Amino acid sequence: MSLSPRPVFPFSAIVAQDEMKLAMISSAVDPAIGGVLVFGDRGTGKSTAVRALAALLPPMHAVIGCRYGCDPAALDALCQECQTRAETETLKHRLVPVPVVDMPLGVTEDRVVGALDLERALSQGVKAFEPGLLARANRGFLYIDEVNLLEDHLVDLLIDVAASGENVVEREGLSVRHPARFVLIGSGNPEEGELRPQLLDRFGLSVEVKTPSDLQERMEVIKRRDEFERDKGAFIAKWKKQDDALRRKIIAGRKRLQEIEMPDSVLEQATKLCMHLGTDGLRAELTLIRAARAIGSYEHADEVDLSHLRRVAAPALRHRLRRDPLDESGSSVRVERAMQEVWGA
Ligand SMILES: [Zn+2]
Repeated sequence: MSLSPRPVFPFSAIVAQDEMKLAMISSAVDPAIGGVLVFGDRGTGKSTAVRALAALLPPMHAVIGCRYGCDPAALDALCQECQTRAETETLKHRLVPVPVVDMPLGVTEDRVVGALDLERALSQGVKAFEPGLLARANRGFLYIDEVNLLEDHLVDLLIDVAASGENVVEREGLSVRHPARFVLIGSGNPEEGELRPQLLDRFGLSVEVKTPSDLQERMEVIKRRDEFERDKGAFIAKWKKQDDALRRKIIAGRKRLQEIEMPDSVLEQATKLCMHLGTDGLRAELTLIRAARAIGSYEHADEVDLSHLRRVAAPALRHRLRRDPLDESGSSVRVERAMQEVWGA
């Protein structure tokens, strides 16, 4: 039985794009990393990858009748309605797929955060709240296509909610709060306007995807896409084993996060690299070690080491570099070079 409403392209069948896959897997292992920003041309499968990842994750237990899909096992993160119900009854739950919510362009703030019906509140004395997209995204992914075209204040708001895990709506002295824990995935096309550096820095990881220029790779992308379109069921069945193995690794990685060691020597290397690159604040180091820890856990390592740092350094740091007027090289090149200089070959 599939819980997904429609067949989704298997995550394991995505050709190459290793950096994007690694970044998305890290954020699924540890959502505290703070989301992923994916830069790239149209048609490079950014939205496919998010959906594929969500479909890969194990279905979640959600309280029946709850508008936020509360987790019945996380008593300290229940919404107000579930809290009240939990005092007198055992919360019934069912399995639901991990949600992926799309943020449409031109969306109103009310639609995003939810709307409080002030008239009903005043006339009937009831707190009428119509949940928005943030409620639907709880415990899943919020995908913003063309994040650079979304109004800055909305991007700011989304990042704030994602970081706090709670949506608070206040109007005229009334307020409603509900859990809203989600991983923010933003896609951007660098040719269509830039994101303010202050917003860039607040995304955990950033990756660049390109249309494959290698002939074989490109043929493989087309072949798999064609095969999927012709018989989705058969294609999904063919990749099921790989997808199952990935799912098990992600689940094990989440459990391992609390156990894996982070030696001081590794932390020192991370800090040295950030100092060398001149990144502002401590967010760069924090993200770098969190992402390295997520990958280490995912790969079942006993402790985080330099190889883990190496693989996440570019995604964790490249969007946090200040523009250097004397250095016109791209940010990926600058991170690569800094790793050479600080850590050696
Ligand atoms: Zn609830």
